[in-house]
Amino acid sequence: MALKALDIYKMLPKKNCKECGFPTCLTFAMKLAAGKADADSCPYLDAATKALLHGATRPPIQLVKLGVGERQVPVGDEIVLFRHEKAFYHPPAILFSVSDLWEKERIVAAAKRVMEEVFPRVGENLRFNGLAVRNDSGNPDAFGKAVAAVEEEAEFPEALISSSAEALEAGLARCGNYRPVIHAATPENFGQVAPLAKRFGCSLVVRAAGLADLARLAKTCGDLGVRDLLLDPAPATLGEYLIRSTEIRQKAIDRSDPDLGHPVFLDATGFVPEEAAVVTGILKYAGVIVTSVLPPGTARMALTLRQNIYTDPQKPIQMTPGLYRVGEPGPDSPVLATVNFSLTYFTLLGYLEASRIPCHLLIIDTEGFSVLTAVAAGKFSERLVKDSLDRYQVAGQVKHRNLVIPGYAAPLSGRIEEVTGWKVLVGPRDAADIGEFLEKEWVAKGRAIRAGP
Ligand code: SF4
Repeated sequence: MALKALDIYKMLPKKNCKECGFPTCLTFAMKLAAGKADADSCPYLDAATKALLHGATRPPIQLVKLGVGERQVPVGDEIVLFRHEKAFYHPPAILFSVSDLWEKERIVAAAKRVMEEVFPRVGENLRFNGLAVRNDSGNPDAFGKAVAAVEEEAEFPEALISSSAEALEAGLARCGNYRPVIHAATPENFGQVAPLAKRFGCSLVVRAAGLADLARLAKTCGDLGVRDLLLDPAPATLGEYLIRSTEIRQKAIDRSDPDLGHPVFLDATGFVPEEAAVVTGILKYAGVIVTSVLPPGTARMALTLRQNIYTDPQKPIQMTPGLYRVGEPGPDSPVLATVNFSLTYFTLLGYLEASRIPCHLLIIDTEGFSVLTAVAAGKFSERLVKDSLDRYQVAGQVKHRNLVIPGYAAPLSGRIEEVTGWKVLVGPRDAADIGEFLEKEWVAKGRAIRAGP
């Protein structure tokens, strides 16, 4: 059970000596309860109390780091069942499946795609995370060679999928320092596979169909010394996956079964249609998803969905406020003001670039709200517009004093003119119309509608 700050406080020595790095014992207790401090930081706690606090304050779902270096992916460490309660923090790693029956060139091509493919979207570079090598041949040598082919390209997380300890060992011997995820320890083979994971310092997927068996197996492998575990609930259908992954998350979050407090592993390749399994995995709690090498359209869908689900619903994706140049704007170019909601910025930017009219784009700090919401909530105000014009020295960039504001901010136009001294042009409501608007209101009218000083 999770302990509340007050319960923890009662266990502390209350010396208020600050040796833990916090100003008082109460602060330390509050940080511990929030999972933001470590019981080891207080030197006055006895071993039994520390053990109790460790159990009660560790994250309900263990954090597992896949791979090493720049492409390392943390998964797990989630704290809520529903995204709207707080946020989901660690997007699932999506690994493309390759087979040891494939020609080397085909394996290398998949590895190159994972290394090189990037989808830029609303200020982020979206990528797939790694490869899962599958021992379809049943032959340890073939598996070792397939892993070696990946290793030639790999600087990303890998999973080794085999039920044979011999094949896994042949693969692990070719992995260098990359420490792949091993899939899987089952009730039948855990005695051979768990020691391998421990010896090679790898994370280990445990696989069993019943949740009681899964929890028992996870505990056994943990007791055998494997530190990082993932859970494969062995679903035969997508419906089974949904039920089991949800139950795992529920029991982990409410700590009713701490042995289920590990990220979930979903092999989506066996489901038809596979896209449905990928979507379900992203929406419902997978920490790792193995897919076929996805075609471009499905790939974009998966990465976009993952990005959307794993943005903080209470914090819209934001642009840094400032004055941005679109094209090569000069002193006669238009100045457009808008909000710092990323989706607004990138949508508008796309249409501005398409219009081929260079301009200055003033991004105002509306705390990530869209235009309509920002205007309604008072986050896009005449005072803020003036402060932004001043802070980013917009007047020094242009000869005129004309400011285009979004169509939905029209009710503020008079007040903005009054406070800033700039003439306000109310732009279109739909960003798609901005090119036509600028052609008509700016280019056709000779650009400088009101000359500056
Ligand atoms: Fe309190 Fe222990 Fe921190 Fe000292 S080190 S302030 S006793 S919690």
